[in-house]
Amino acid sequence: MIDMHCHLDLYAEPQNVVNNCKEKEIYVLSVTTTPKAWSGTRMIVEGIDKIWTSLGLHPQLAHERYNELEIFDDILPDTTFIGEVGLDGGKNYRSHYKRQKEVFRHILMNVQRAGGRIMTIHSQHAASDVLDELADYPDAGIPILHWFTGNKYELKEAILQECWFSVGPAMLATQRGRELFINIPRDKIISETDGPFAMVNKKPLMPWDVDLVISAISKLWDESDKSVKEKISNNFSNLIKYSKKVMGAGVIFPRFEGGTRLK
Ligand code: MN
Repeated sequence: MIDMHCHLDLYAEPQNVVNNCKEKEIYVLSVTTTPKAWSGTRMIVEGIDKIWTSLGLHPQLAHERYNELEIFDDILPDTTFIGEVGLDGGKNYRSHYKRQKEVFRHILMNVQRAGGRIMTIHSQHAASDVLDELADYPDAGIPILHWFTGNKYELKEAILQECWFSVGPAMLATQRGRELFINIPRDKIISETDGPFAMVNKKPLMPWDVDLVISAISKLWDESDKSVKEKISNNFSNLIKYSKKVMGAGVIFPRFEGGTRLK
């Protein structure tokens, strides 16, 4: 099981969730929303080789936290994954859009300079702009558009730009989400929950609820759960392989590889 986008630090009892993930041997990308949160969030998964902590500055917080970009830059050499970052053009955040763009550009520029990373990206009400920014930094690594809600033209463009997509139960619960989903190349799909933000039946999703995505996908692809799981773990290992190539020398790699620096 793979949960490629989950906010472990935002659950009511993070340590319980972490212990459960460890027991169930789930691969989790634990995403953060501010650079200051990175080290503490990383601490709660210390020693667990299937959970990684990504370095983020959420677009909904960009206007309050842009002064943490310096911390972002300091941590960047030590992290393989970036996120949650991106843009949010929703009505509550539109007034800070200029600041969001500054922050996102700063991040993409420095990530590109650092050799590229795997990035989990928020693009609500901003898919075209996110794609435009990504096009300006073609060597920033692998963008994974998480919970994509753009239109079909934006989806087409994202596919042309070789984006990946992480897909959760909440996305596949809507007709619109399902219609987008069936047009995504099957080798660019990764499972996620976006817990505890994303909910199903008014309950926050837990990382092991990625099971729900697997069964939803198996219906949409008309394949068995087993074959969907195989495809997604295959995609996951391609992503990891690809990232090695992208990141090159000197970057600390996921701990399932022993935590060694790549030569
Ligand atoms: Mn999120």
